[in-house]
Amino acid sequence: MKAVQISKPGGNFEVVERPIPEPGRNQVRIKVDACGICHSDVLVKEGLWPGLQYPRIPGHEISGRVDAVGAEVTQWKPGQRVGVGWHGGHCFKCEPCRRGDFFQCQFQKITAIHFDGGYAEYMIAPAEAVAAIPDDLPADEAAPLMCAGITVYNVLRNAGARGGDLVAVQGIGGLGHLGIQYARQLGFRTVAIGRGADKAPLAKKLGAHEYIDSGSTSPADALQKLGGARLILATAPDSKSMSALVEGLSGGGKLLVVGAGPEPLSVSPLPLISKRLTIQGWPSGTAMDSEDTLRFSSLTGVRPMIERYPLEKAAEAYDQMLSGRARFRVVLTIGR
Ligand SMILES: [Zn+2]
Ligand SMILES: [Zn+2]
Repeated sequence: MKAVQISKPGGNFEVVERPIPEPGRNQVRIKVDACGICHSDVLVKEGLWPGLQYPRIPGHEISGRVDAVGAEVTQWKPGQRVGVGWHGGHCFKCEPCRRGDFFQCQFQKITAIHFDGGYAEYMIAPAEAVAAIPDDLPADEAAPLMCAGITVYNVLRNAGARGGDLVAVQGIGGLGHLGIQYARQLGFRTVAIGRGADKAPLAKKLGAHEYIDSGSTSPADALQKLGGARLILATAPDSKSMSALVEGLSGGGKLLVVGAGPEPLSVSPLPLISKRLTIQGWPSGTAMDSEDTLRFSSLTGVRPMIERYPLEKAAEAYDQMLSGRARFRVVLTIGR
């Protein structure tokens, strides 16, 4: 099979031929149709994950079809359309697993960190890490939903807001453009926060009821004028502007952090206490959460905006992702 690998920390993307891998007893072999490029692929490219073994095939936004299954796999059949995301499997035995909190598994496997990912024609995944893809969702649009999509959908649906509540999405990029769509489709009064008046038409097109230009006004003040936000989904990895958003929350509101900047967040404790505020992070979810994300997207028409590249051009595609110019997710199309 054709694959793209990194053979040492900081190494280049190498297009290589590899034997097609065989699935183990509880594993599924997937013929990959598309694989999204996520900013977290930097961890593999630059060797930022302690103990990562090379060579490694990156990619944890995978969509494809089941091609072969191991002897103990009963829930998946060849031909089924499936995806794999960041969460690459769990042990079923540790304390969090016994409590059903599989994402917190102490022995959690991460796709493309602990085993090879989707920059390849085939990949192997543990059966519990696989999610079904609805028929009407094209492979290239399903791929980014396996990481970017599930992250913003899963946090928005679990954060306690109800229909009609004011929910703001900060940042109109890879995560934010999906967050705006999900917030709208979940029934929230959706406010997009971006930099520059020129982004307003896109924000409205994605479903935002209101747009706040952070270049010309303080987003926190603007949110308070609208009554204060029940939730603010912070996607742009800029800790300073994220911290300032806390002032835009209503009583009992939550700042949901999914964009990771290098700087610490800095918030004043008094409003946290007096307004009973919460700052919460969110990682993504399990295969079942992915399946929910895909089904909800199929039901409501939420789709990522993508730029497509063939597998052989992975290096170029990765550079486009890093440049921040991509609108908004970069996807490798593989096979047909
Ligand atoms: Zn990712
Ligand atoms: Zn476990």
